[in-house]
This record gives sequence, structure tokens and C-alpha cells, in this order.
Amino acid sequence: MAQGQLHIDLAALQANWRALDARSGAKVQTAATVKANGYGLGAGHVAHALARAGARRFFVAIAEEGVAVRSAIGPDLPIHVYSGHMEGDARLIAEAGLIPMLNSTEQLTRQFEALPGHPFGIQLDTGMNRLGMEPAEWQAVGEIALSQRPELVMSHLACADEPDHPMNARQLEVFHSLTDGINVPRSLAATGGILLGPDYHFEITRPGIGLYGGAPFTEAQAVVRLSIPVIQIREVAAGETVGYGNTFKAPDDMRLATIAAGYADGIHRVLSNQAILWAGDIPCPLVGRVSMDLLTIDVSNVDGTPETLDLLGPHQGIDAIADVIGTIGYEVLTGLGYRYARHYQPGA
Ligand SMILES: *Cc1c(COP(=O)(O)O)cnc(C)c1O
Repeated sequence: MAQGQLHIDLAALQANWRALDARSGAKVQTAATVKANGYGLGAGHVAHALARAGARRFFVAIAEEGVAVRSAIGPDLPIHVYSGHMEGDARLIAEAGLIPMLNSTEQLTRQFEALPGHPFGIQLDTGMNRLGMEPAEWQAVGEIALSQRPELVMSHLACADEPDHPMNARQLEVFHSLTDGINVPRSLAATGGILLGPDYHFEITRPGIGLYGGAPFTEAQAVVRLSIPVIQIREVAAGETVGYGNTFKAPDDMRLATIAAGYADGIHRVLSNQAILWAGDIPCPLVGRVSMDLLTIDVSNVDGTPETLDLLGPHQGIDAIADVIGTIGYEVLTGLGYRYARHYQPGA
């Protein structure tokens, strides 16, 4: 079998949820963000495991993502949609029982016309300038919106992964000025916001990346391990070249393993001649270019023939790989390819 094996540890996911939940007070509800197919790990499996761990509320990016989450968690727990209510969403919102977080007067009107009486929430912009009603817009329509009793009013922090950034306090102040006294549950914090402390927690937090083992929640347990099968081993003599473009020339005689994953599986081509893979505890450099389905790895230091090499695992997490590429763990996770076999180690 040449299929890469992606092991997803649901017990670690649940432990991360509990650890983040423990960072806020007993009255704060810790929800879970499971957008982008549960950060690439399978929204249904992830949502089901988190519900079993105690999560009582879920967030997705677009209404279509809510369907898989709904079938995984049953009819009762709320699922919010960050993108709100787009044209054509009404049926999905009604059938899957979703709560659109309305981002504009246009969405507010669409919701009230298409689904009067259906639960909704409001997203406010407190300075990130990405989603949500602007303060002036909220001033104009807030009273009408509040008269329809929203489930939740939320905003999102732009710089929460930098605790000392002055933007955090600025957005907190704006959020207070827009929402104090409204008597509706409020949410401002994702993973980074939870770590900023209780001032940022309000009634509901909605972590994503920390659940899946990524920064800025540095205490998180690793959730993923990626093992890639070795197809072939060969000896190359000093001076021979490896892979497309001859970008690697063997400085000595060496042993190479050709393994079954490439950029089609989300292994970024920038990792060519850069990444390290692991044979148990032995680091093995990737040599030559990443191609579509294959990588060539220097296994000269490995005794015998390894069956698989790990790109992600105990020695190298998503953030370590992200650093090499020049991106963030979020992108590494959500880029994990569809071609891997996904194995779920059951949680509680
Ligand atoms: C993705 C997202 C989250 C979760 O953020 P993490 O940094 O992954 O914890 C929360 N709120 C909004 C609006 C988001 O887009």
C-alpha cells in the first residue's frame, strides 16, 4: 500500500478542548470552531468527539459546512455560521438548523424576510475590517436587530496571537462600547483571545487551532501524525543528482528512500531540499525537489529499511513544518491532502 497514513488522535483533541475550557471561568461556555472540514481533519469526527468532551456549541465558516456537523452532533446543539446569511442559504439554514452570524444590514434584511423567527446572531467589526457590521451601521440597525432577540453578538480579534499588541485592548474597548448593556450573550475570543485572559472571555469562547494542536496554544497536545510509505530504496554514488531539475547532488555515497506523497498531498514544494522527515527518532533530510506524488529522502543514517517516514509526528508538529515553509500551522493542517487514509484514534 502506497497511501499516506494520517493518524488523528481524538483523545488529544478532547484533552485540548478541556485544557482551553479550563482557561476560562466556570460560567464561560467554551464552544468549538470546526470550519474548513474541522481544520482538515474531518468535521464530522471532530465535532462528534468535541461534543462528547463537552462542547455545547459549534462554529463553521459557510452554511454548507454546517450539514456534516449537524449530522455528527444531532439536532440539539447550536451551530453558528461566520459568513452569515448569503443569497440562497435560507433553505440550508432552516433544514440544518443553523444560526447565521449576520454581517450587514443586507444580511439582516435577508434573514428577517426569508426566515422570520429563526435564530440568528450578529457579527460586529471592531477594527479588523474583515467581517461584521461597522459601528455606524450597528448604531442604525442595532435596536431593530436586538428587538428580534439575537442568540449571540460577536466580534473577532486581529492580533490575539500577539498578547502585547495594543490592538487587543483597542478592540476590547470598542466591543464594550458597542455591546455593553444589551443583555445578549457575547463572544470575542478564539484561541488567542482565550489566552489573553478573562477580560476577553465574555459568555462564549470559540477556539479553533488550539483544539487541533497549533500555536498560539503552545501547551496543546499534538493531534496529527503523518506517516508516508517507502516505495523504493536506492544507493547513489557521490556526484549523482536527484529529482527534477537536478537540484540535489550527492556529496557522498548515500542511501535514498523514495516515498509516496508530494505536493498533490499538500506537501508544499517550498520544502524541496529543506524538510526533515523522521524514521522513529532519526532525522532524515528531504533531498531534491518535492514532486507531485513523491519525495526523496536521505536515509543513510537509518539501519535497515524503514517502512514509513513521518513528516508530522512527535518530533515535528504542524508549526515546525509551517516555519520551514514560512506560513502558519493553520495552513499546514487545512492543506493536508484528500489522498491520505485518515485513521481516527478514538477518544472518550
Ligand atoms: C477561524 C475563526 C475562529 C477560530 O480561530 P482560531 O484562531 O483557530 O482559534 C474564531 N472566530 C472566527 C471569526 C474565525 O474566523
